[in-house]
This record gives sequence, C-alpha cells and structure tokens, in this order.
Amino acid sequence: MNKNSVEGMAVYPGTFDPIHFGHLDIIERGSKVFPQLLVGVGINPDKSTLFSLEERVALVKQTTSHLPNVIVLPFENLVVHFVKESNSKLILRGMRTTSDMDYEFTMSLANMALDPDIETVFLLAKDIYSHLSSSLLKQIAVLGGDLSKFIPPAVAKAMLEKIRRK
Ligand code: ADP
Repeated sequence: MNKNSVEGMAVYPGTFDPIHFGHLDIIERGSKVFPQLLVGVGINPDKSTLFSLEERVALVKQTTSHLPNVIVLPFENLVVHFVKESNSKLILRGMRTTSDMDYEFTMSLANMALDPDIETVFLLAKDIYSHLSSSLLKQIAVLGGDLSKFIPPAVAKAMLEKIRRK
C-alpha cells in the first residue's frame, strides 16, 4: 500500500462524456490515495451525452489501462446504490472552481441523506485543468480547435469521428 493511502476502495462516479485530462488527473491521484479505485460511468438524466454509455466506458478503460488498481464499470442506478453494491463506503469527486461547490455540496448532502454510511471525499482539480469540462471540449471539437492539450489522442479521434457523423 502507498504510504499516503487510506483503507478501502473508493468509487469515482461521473458521466465522463468524454473523459479528459482533468478526470484522468483525479483518477491518477485517487489511485495513489486509495488501494483500489472504481471509476463508475453513469447516466445523468439532466445531461444528453455525445457518447453512449458503452463508448464512454470503453474510452475510460482505454485511457486508464496503465493503472493496475483502477477498475471501470458502468452503472445505471443511484450513485449510493452503486457504491453499496460495490462494497465501498467512499465516493471520490473532483472539485474545480467555486462554481462546482454548490452542485457538489448539494449532491454530497443528498447522498448523505440517502445513505449516512457513505462519505464523499474531494480532490481539488489541478490549476491547469480547472477550466476544463466535457461541454467545453465539445464546443472546441465542433469549432475545429486543437484538442490535444485536453484529451488523450484516442479520445480526440473518437470525438472527431463522432462529430463528423452527426
Ligand atoms: P457528473 O455528471 O457526475 O458531474 P462529470 O463527468 O462531469 O460527471 O464529472 C465527474 C467528476 O469529475 C466530478 O466530480 C467533477 O467535478 C470532476 N471533474 C470534472 N472536470 C474536472 C476537471 N477539469 N478537473 C478535475 N475534476 C473534474
């Protein structure tokens, strides 16, 4: 176990539409803090996605395959139910700017009310990624901007193919 690691597997849930360097940074750092990290790729009823659930899972798997203690699974139920089914008690989330605070605060309190045994912990986004979001990436891709600073080549390729076919 890494000297900074805590006990138990954490679950990092998100939409990952698609996964970008901000997410990957949280996954890499999370994989050093927790003995095992389960990345849960879910469905957000408020967001219509560019990629299907299967495609999002495949891209997360492909871009995290170098991390031996990271596993990736889809889920279609509530985060707290997925966490419990996975025998975990920890949710990991990334926090970008203060604008993420409201949303993450509300979600954490809702999850706490739904299951008081489950705790949410946060890792702060690195400053170089704090502006990065999947929706910004979609705008850059549609307008023909350079994606290489924000996403791995395999994700950029998948994004460009997807946008071309739309
Ligand atoms: P959700 O729909 O659940 O918000 P996202 O894929 O948008 O899913 O985000 C998943 C998690 O990754 C959230 O905790 C979010 O705050 C975090 N995150 C998103 N973008 C970044 C970034 N640039 N740097 C660090 N964390 C991020």
